[in-house]
Amino acid sequence: MPELPEVQTIINELSPIIIGKNLVKIEEFRENTLINQQKISYLGQINTIFRRGKYIIITTDQKLQIIIHLRMTGKLIYTENLTSSSSHMRAHLIFSDHSKLIFDDVRTFGQITIAPLNQQIKSLDILGAEPFSNDFSTEYLWQKFRKRKAPIKNILLNQTIIAGLGNIYVNEILFACQIHPAVPTNSLNKKQIGAIISNTIKILKKAIKYNGTTISDYKRVDNKSGKFQNFLKIYQKTECPKCGNPVSRIKQAGRSTFFCYSCQNNPHKPLKSKNNG
Ligand SMILES: [Zn+2]
Repeated sequence: MPELPEVQTIINELSPIIIGKNLVKIEEFRENTLINQQKISYLGQINTIFRRGKYIIITTDQKLQIIIHLRMTGKLIYTENLTSSSSHMRAHLIFSDHSKLIFDDVRTFGQITIAPLNQQIKSLDILGAEPFSNDFSTEYLWQKFRKRKAPIKNILLNQTIIAGLGNIYVNEILFACQIHPAVPTNSLNKKQIGAIISNTIKILKKAIKYNGTTISDYKRVDNKSGKFQNFLKIYQKTECPKCGNPVSRIKQAGRSTFFCYSCQNNPHKPLKSKNNG
């Protein structure tokens, strides 16, 4: 599933290509791919493309917003060939110069919402702090964490607390922090919360630098793969890169969690300093 770094990569690669283009129409090839579709004759010139959590938001000079959520397997493929298709094309966005953006989605959970720019979008309004914003602070997470007993792994996946994290990066962040994924969230101290913040930023930045993680479906807009899978330390690994012990695998809220029982075992163990780690 595309997470923050994958969505950011798509945006970084699309913006120089589509900003300024005239969006003529959006057509769906599978029912319920387009949401809130109104009778709009002209969608307008593309002004901006940006990210909120895992959502891609495109705005036009006709005061419209096009919100794309890729969900499990959604992909955006840019092509200058108007007649080209893809194996699971659910919709396409057609530009006046006959180039287009294909929305391909095997599992069909992805959606495109078209709405006036001033319309409140509930799924965006409920999102929590952006990891690269000032809102993502120790104080913010401390307030959010102190009343929650659920395992930290599940809370980090909660989009209303932190926007953009998914299963792969949460596994990596907890390993980097040496925090057991099943530890009750409200048992974490401020030092551990600080470690979650710094490691989240560090890991996400590096993943964006390497254009995201391609393990199964995620592809960039030119259909190339990301490269951060080569830097994963714990996700889908069998041996801990730190201590050499076998990596443990459990299910939490239906998702696979990978962790090192030895390095992340004791929830109350103080973080190792850089010198002896
Ligand atoms: Zn280990």
